[in-house]
Amino acid sequence: MLQLVDVGRQPIDAYAKIVGLEVIAELRQLASELKSVRVAHINATSYGGGVSELLRSIVPLENDLGLKVEWRTIFGEGQFFKVTKDIHNALQGAKKYLGADEKETYLNYNLINSRELDPKDYDIIVVHDPQPAALLECCRQQEETKWVWRCHIDTSRSNEEAWDHLKKYVLRYHKTVFTMKEFVPPKFPLVDVEIIPPAIDPLSPKNLELSDKMAHRILAWLGIFPGEPFITQVSRFDRWKDPLGVIKAYKMVKESRPNLHLALVGSMALDDPEAWEIYSELTALDTNDPNLHVLTNLTGVGNMEVNAFQRLSSVVIQKSIREGFGLVVSEALWKGTPVVAGRAGGIPMQLMAGGGFLIDSVEECADRTLEILENKDLALEMGEAGRENIKNNFLITRLLRDELQLFRSLVNS
Ligand code: UDP
Repeated sequence: MLQLVDVGRQPIDAYAKIVGLEVIAELRQLASELKSVRVAHINATSYGGGVSELLRSIVPLENDLGLKVEWRTIFGEGQFFKVTKDIHNALQGAKKYLGADEKETYLNYNLINSRELDPKDYDIIVVHDPQPAALLECCRQQEETKWVWRCHIDTSRSNEEAWDHLKKYVLRYHKTVFTMKEFVPPKFPLVDVEIIPPAIDPLSPKNLELSDKMAHRILAWLGIFPGEPFITQVSRFDRWKDPLGVIKAYKMVKESRPNLHLALVGSMALDDPEAWEIYSELTALDTNDPNLHVLTNLTGVGNMEVNAFQRLSSVVIQKSIREGFGLVVSEALWKGTPVVAGRAGGIPMQLMAGGGFLIDSVEECADRTLEILENKDLALEMGEAGRENIKNNFLITRLLRDELQLFRSLVNS
């Protein structure tokens, strides 16, 4: 069997105080038609990145609503994850794609994993992202099981060769789900596509209410003294998130605000071999500036710490060049913190109703950050608008509703 991720229990009723009883009643009504429907969510890693955040929150809620849902991860090794990172990068627009050997590696690992999966154990299998996308091709398909491929990547400007390769696996699925319609590749059979943006969990340790006093204490333990203003980017160490661009922008702002600090908070996802390389580059730069902090999950920055950073930062930066969604943007806005973020992928829809500025360059990133740092009223106004938009559109209960509707359409088809 594929590795099961134990996510414990979480009652849906706990969300009533945030989203209201009507929303919970609607979810219960939708779920009433899905009692005991067996679902497997399958992805590459139980830790690091947005997909594992989403699954960690949504799986217990789907179970609480009466479905029988499991989260399972595939097995992989360095060679496989290097190949799948290249696929990820090509889908986001990198020119380099796989050679024949690498394509074989990709298929072989999917084959190994498919032997650990019996589709007839489930009514619905949701496969997340490209790493396990060839599982369906490799499994002995059971007529009754419905398969969904859920793409979380910014595929708006994909490398065509990468799509041509993946398409033969993806077109076998009953449904594919993208975050935005702009991500659907050209000539994709639109009839099988659903658009569902991700969402954040307001009750997870990363997003729950935290007093300023406690947040200060948490950051002080990490050596960040919030007596001085600081800005933060929280991201996997990934070139598409442009951490070097963030440092350049910070240095520009610092010319006007010499006491400013920058925290670059990054995690090492289990399936991301590039992160170490980028981390080394950043720490090499780090040496001469005591106000530049490069922190990771490996040195104690967990969910509560990220919560504290996002809450106490004067501005949260997300200078992505490509971005599937960017949960970190919603996380910061939910805490009332203004965001300056790259005009990429799913970010603009999170800032559509206010909450921050979209930027297209390092200079603009620096200018907009300074503008917020210098105008407290603007920062407050943005914070309020941003939180309201997240409350209305990007909380986990909305995602749950969309997924239950998707499951219902599959079960009834
Ligand atoms: N994250 C974290 N610690 C880090 C870096 C990232 O907990 O050091 C979390 C972040 O809070 C968010 C997720 O990882 O919940 C990243 O999701 P996002 O959609 O922003 O980007 P992805 O990694 O999926 O490209």
